Amino acid sequence: MNTNRNGAYVASTTDVVERSCDHCEWHAVDDTYPALIERYQDHLREEHPRIWLRR
Ligand SMILES: [Zn+2]
Repeated sequence: MNTNRNGAYVASTTDVVERSCDHCEWHAVDDTYPALIERYQDHLREEHPRIWLRR
């Protein structure tokens, strides 16, 4: 399994990517990495605004 610095990985048997939040139990699965990043950033903006502002 490939893991990159952001903690996201691409499962070898399916074309989905998964992202876990570094700050809570939130995680999401999506078809494409850009879509997943967008969802993660939405999550940060809503749930961790102070972390979001620091990015
Ligand atoms: Zn979170």
